[in-house]
Amino acid sequence: MIKKWGFFLLFRCDCGNCETMATNEECLCCHEVGPIEEILDQSSITCFTQHEGFIGNCLNRYVIQVSLLAPCPNAFCT
Ligand SMILES: [Zn+2]
Ligand SMILES: [Zn+2]
Repeated sequence: MIKKWGFFLLFRCDCGNCETMATNEECLCCHEVGPIEEILDQSSITCFTQHEGFIGNCLNRYVIQVSLLAPCPNAFCT
């Protein structure tokens, strides 16, 4: 069943960068996330992993390090 979902994902991937993942939750193309698709529509990139904001925030090891060490200021996160 999971594999079926994975192959279905490959079929419906719109960014060209998705691979089959182990769980259904991980099988999500960036084009399936509404606000992200809006950003992609307004830019020349095809995948959100090429977006400057994603590269700076999600692929920067120091940003990730600080996020893990610093307490979250958002009360809903605790
Ligand atoms: Zn994709
Ligand atoms: Zn993508």
